[in-house]
Amino acid sequence: MDFNVSDKMQVILKKINEFVDKELIGLEPQFLNNEFVNLLPELEQKRKKVKKMELWAPNLPRELGGMGLDLVEHGLVSQALGRTPIGHYVFNCQAPDAGNIEILHKYGAPDQHERYLKPLADGKIRSCFSMTEVDMPGSNPVMLATTAQKDGNDYVINGRKWYTSSADGAAFAIVMAVTNPEAPPYQQASMIIVPSDTPGFNLVRNIAVMGHRGSDYASHGEIVYQDCRVPCKNLLGPEGQGFVIAQERLGPGRIHHCMRWLGIAQRCFDLMCQRANTRKITPDGKTLGSRQIIRAWIAESASEIHAARLMTLHTAWKIEKDGAKAARHEISFIKFTVANTLKRVADRALQVLGGLGMTDDTVLAYFFRHERAARIYDGADEVHKMSVAKRILRVHAEKGLNAALNLPG
Ligand SMILES: Cc1cc2nc3c(=O)[nH]c(=O)nc-3n(C[C@H](O)[C@H](O)[C@H](O)COP(=O)(O)OP(=O)(O)OC[C@H]3O[C@@H](n4cnc5c(N)ncnc54)[C@H](O)[C@@H]3O)c2cc1C
Repeated sequence: MDFNVSDKMQVILKKINEFVDKELIGLEPQFLNNEFVNLLPELEQKRKKVKKMELWAPNLPRELGGMGLDLVEHGLVSQALGRTPIGHYVFNCQAPDAGNIEILHKYGAPDQHERYLKPLADGKIRSCFSMTEVDMPGSNPVMLATTAQKDGNDYVINGRKWYTSSADGAAFAIVMAVTNPEAPPYQQASMIIVPSDTPGFNLVRNIAVMGHRGSDYASHGEIVYQDCRVPCKNLLGPEGQGFVIAQERLGPGRIHHCMRWLGIAQRCFDLMCQRANTRKITPDGKTLGSRQIIRAWIAESASEIHAARLMTLHTAWKIEKDGAKAARHEISFIKFTVANTLKRVADRALQVLGGLGMTDDTVLAYFFRHERAARIYDGADEVHKMSVAKRILRVHAEKGLNAALNLPG
């Protein structure tokens, strides 16, 4: 086992951390007290700087203009960028575009590469991923009500989706819809590219999430697809393979999310330590950090972040080595472990900041509001726990403890 971070990555991480500290954290008050859309011109300038520094799109291969980092390397970058809510956007490795780029790269036809993939990788357009439906359980995605019926050379799409993140201002959506209702459940749905200016693509609202509707990239849309007609050549990958492709999108995507959540936990931890060290709580100048209970929270938070980080990097390493399928249980472990680490650390930090923590004078309340969702999206925690436990019990009964825990020997 080698826990070293390579010289190459040390240099890259130093540059990125400096950029986050000097160029992005100062923009947070504007981000927190303004609509995202108003911040776009300034963010565009930052994006240009990132390109010039050759730090653009760290997760993308070089042929798409990215840095070509592997999953472990990009995980480290994602943690550094996660410290600010605008980090991933400025470096063009934000969800949902990062996942959409991956599947377009792998499954897209040459004309789809020209029209959608290249401008996306270049940061000229944005996209969204439209799978979850208002009236169906997202936790059981085979229950999709949205249909795409063939009519001549077109698909005609009908359905109501919500939580299509970043739909506001997106150039196109990748839509999951039932194309083959007679096929077995996991082969009924396909992915179809729908440009957002197609008649029948109706963004009916940005959903208010924890009291905020947001705008542009920082929003979650509800979309009614009403007789929305697109050519059959907009099919992404083979017909009926939507779930197979979605699975591929989710594996590495969870590493990106988990490392971003660890960056957020790290920032919350930073704010907690700063406050513990500086907040005087007695007339003779004793600080909050002198109190045992605060010290316990700091020690627990530091060790939980460390443990979750090792788990996530190990999972990234296993995906690189053996593929996402072989690492599916580790992927489930990190999904619920890191989401809950983030929740606990953010909660302790908010408690330490007291009334200040509840305001938008620091970034903490934003993280607290928006990252509660970490336990829900990318598979609710409970769904991951159910599938992992099912497998553990089966393997334990058949092969014993070591096999159930994936231990050698
Ligand atoms: C901030 C945010 C961004 C999102 N972005 C996108 C996006 O860009 N595109 C997109 O398509 N979707 C997106 N989603 C949707 C997300 O994928 C779904 O919310 C998620 O899959 C859960 O589906 P649901 O909300 O329908 O909850 P349900 O499926 O109704 O589940 C509700 C709860 O029930 C419990 N539960 C469910 N099934 C089981 C089970 N088998 N056993 C035990 N407990 C269970 C879990 O606690 C779960 O949280 C986003 C969601 C959020 C909150």
